[in-house]
Amino acid sequence: MEGNHSTAAEGGAGSAGPARTLDELRARLQPGAVLTDPVKTEAYRRDRAEDPDAGTPLAVVRAASADDVQEVIRFAHATGTPVVPRGAGTSLSGGSTAQDGCLVLSLERMREITVDPITRTVVAQPGAFNGEVKAAAAEHGLWYPPDPASYTFCSIGGNIATNAGGLCCVKYGVTTDYVLGMTVVLADGRKVQLGGPRLKDVAGLPLTKLFVGSEGTLGIITDVTLRLVPAQRAPQTLVATFPSLEASTDAVLAITRTMRPSMLEFMDGPTLCAVEDETRMGLDREAAAMLIVQSDEPAGHAGEEIAEIARRCEAAGATEVYSTDDPDEGEAFVAARRIAIPAVEKKGTILLEDVGVPIPRLGALVDGIAEISREHDVLVAVMAHAGDGNTHPLVVFDPTDAAQRERAHAAYGAIMDLAVSLGGTITGEHGVGRLKQPWLAGYLGDDVMELNRRVKAAFDPTGILNPGVMFDEPPRP
Ligand SMILES: Cc1cc2nc3c(=O)[nH]c(=O)nc-3n(C[C@H](O)[C@H](O)[C@H](O)COP(=O)(O)OP(=O)(O)OC[C@H]3O[C@@H](n4cnc5c(N)ncnc54)[C@H](O)[C@@H]3O)c2cc1C
Repeated sequence: MEGNHSTAAEGGAGSAGPARTLDELRARLQPGAVLTDPVKTEAYRRDRAEDPDAGTPLAVVRAASADDVQEVIRFAHATGTPVVPRGAGTSLSGGSTAQDGCLVLSLERMREITVDPITRTVVAQPGAFNGEVKAAAAEHGLWYPPDPASYTFCSIGGNIATNAGGLCCVKYGVTTDYVLGMTVVLADGRKVQLGGPRLKDVAGLPLTKLFVGSEGTLGIITDVTLRLVPAQRAPQTLVATFPSLEASTDAVLAITRTMRPSMLEFMDGPTLCAVEDETRMGLDREAAAMLIVQSDEPAGHAGEEIAEIARRCEAAGATEVYSTDDPDEGEAFVAARRIAIPAVEKKGTILLEDVGVPIPRLGALVDGIAEISREHDVLVAVMAHAGDGNTHPLVVFDPTDAAQRERAHAAYGAIMDLAVSLGGTITGEHGVGRLKQPWLAGYLGDDVMELNRRVKAAFDPTGILNPGVMFDEPPRP
């Protein structure tokens, strides 16, 4: 029961004011905003990374307004209590995983969306789902392009905090390309406005962009102003299957060299089989890989673009190429790609990778991952936003088999090492979170890591904001 029992968060390390109790915070918020009942808080401990080491929060606070967020952060600042901001909890890198004694600050109740068709902008509160922002824009004939495969159940605040990518980003760019401004509550409880509904604004350092991808470590985003574009034309769709990974990545290169499709997605054989198990839509279980490509060029041009892409796939060795101008049929293939992660998740426990490389190295990456899978004797299913060079290898293992678990973790690290050796990154869109924190310093190098630490220390000198994400130790001011 959510009673008024007195749970204390008396002035921990870094306390900047008199000791305060959780009941004081409770009294400043709407009834029911502060949850301490373990039955209710359990759902907020983990995100989709399913970290078995997730902590037990002091409380979950469901903010209803920016004022509520300020109250929570003032309390955390005064008591030195860590705060884990949380949108919809779909992080695949453990970014919204609770830690012991923290406040999970849930933004799920803050969902207002206001579209201004004149400036072609939308102001959204952080808890609104990406799909809800898209739907609100569509009512005015407008479009918010970034489309993570999770768009129907992830929050726009989480998207900003991770600089989310998605399927159409190969043509339309990622989240940061649409962020014009935001309101942020800082680590001491102050609220600041960064940017706004202006297409150009270069006054001061670009702090708005600094917050994009900051993973809750610099401040809490309480609203965001996003750029909208005219509605997308109905796309035409092509699917092509390949007898080898090499043929499929050759086709990707042949396409991206001179063309810019509105989608260029990849699934390897194990992923195709997992998706086919779920959908029974007749995908080729024998294929080594499949590409899903879309063109949203104007009528006439789209057909020409798809026909040219078909020729390039065939030249690369595709065994089957199929295209359609029926949007519903095309959407069925795209939906199959969107459920790829949940489909593979059903095969066992997964460690989800997000490595990306420059496009010319995609073939070497995909081949190298297959080699790592063989060497470590674990299943690795690969799907990719191929046109961005951003892959999601999913290492699948049986959690009850200790040896297999160990091999899976070794493969997970080996894949990151491989990507970096190919000039790539340890994360293209999911963020560092807690899971990839140990690899960040090695990837960035000492000087750049130190710059990161100094920026963190400037915004969050006592280290209360999402500790353990990106940074392993409290900042040194
Ligand atoms: C099936 C599936 C498919 C996916 N496909 C994609 C994909 O194609 N592309 C992609 O980029 N991602 C994808 N993801 C990952 C995930 O959906 C994204 O990272 C998404 O942006 C997270 O949003 P969320 O609301 O769930 O954030 P959460 O998981 O709640 O939080 C993510 C991070 O943002 C921080 N945060 C959240 N809200 C705020 C705020 N208001 N202020 C400050 N910090 C905040 C959190 O502390 C955390 O560090 C997928 C996930 C799943 C489960």
